[in-house]
Amino acid sequence: MRVQLDCVSRGAGQINEDYAAVSLAGDIGALVVLDGVGGSGVGCRHGVPWFTARLGGELLRLACTRVDTPLADCLGEAIARTARAHATSCDLTQVQTPQSTVVAARWHGDRLDHLVLSDSMLLIRGRDGVVRPVLDKPLDRLEPGPSKRLSALREVEEAHPVGSAERAAAAEEYARVSRGLRNSPGGFFTAAADPDVAAKALTGTLPRSEVCSLAALTDGAGNWVETFGLGTWTQCVELLEREGPQGLICRVRTAERADAGRDSFPRDKSVDDAAVVFVEFDGAP
Ligand SMILES: [Zn+2]
Repeated sequence: MRVQLDCVSRGAGQINEDYAAVSLAGDIGALVVLDGVGGSGVGCRHGVPWFTARLGGELLRLACTRVDTPLADCLGEAIARTARAHATSCDLTQVQTPQSTVVAARWHGDRLDHLVLSDSMLLIRGRDGVVRPVLDKPLDRLEPGPSKRLSALREVEEAHPVGSAERAAAAEEYARVSRGLRNSPGGFFTAAADPDVAAKALTGTLPRSEVCSLAALTDGAGNWVETFGLGTWTQCVELLEREGPQGLICRVRTAERADAGRDSFPRDKSVDDAAVVFVEFDGAP
């Protein structure tokens, strides 16, 4: 088995809010990739990196030591333990309390379990060569009202000239509305302080022998496909096979720099933290 990992901040001196970890012990392996958000000093004195280290570490440990417990239950327990660790010192009811997307996978014998919550990605390449992306698209799960509102705001943003006050105001309003939909009824869900959110994750199980490779990505890396349209998910995995996580992230950085003003490719951040864990099982091509 070969494992490659890259997890880099959006720029020199910027704190990386992505998290990536792998555990290999005996015949049990697991990976966890998180994209931290929130935590702008409201309510929590610890910050996002503390939160992702705590949540990711708990999830990885539970996944590997309780191999018969479903990953969603491991995630629920990891969220609860993380919340308990700062419930007395922090106000976890704030919408902006530290939180994250979650991708996790665990393999044990011929069983491979996976979980995706919110907009980080898992790409599973089968022995048949087909790449199956596991994507939890939060905006696609929105109820029609909020979904239409966000689409309309994005259209307003794109209709105004680059650099105009109207375009900036629409982008700001989009971000504000989007934040308000996080972990609220009719909105979308991330791992924050409520363990029940774990039940909303996409989960699945496959025979390990049918899987050739796994790639877990935060959207900072997945933007190669989703924002910049530089290839398909299959081509993304082919790029990882050739150049590894560093090659993928390097190409995203080039695309980000070429559109630093976010004129051609509207996105929340000009440059984003990026994390990739790429696992190739024995017998991979
Ligand atoms: Zn805290």
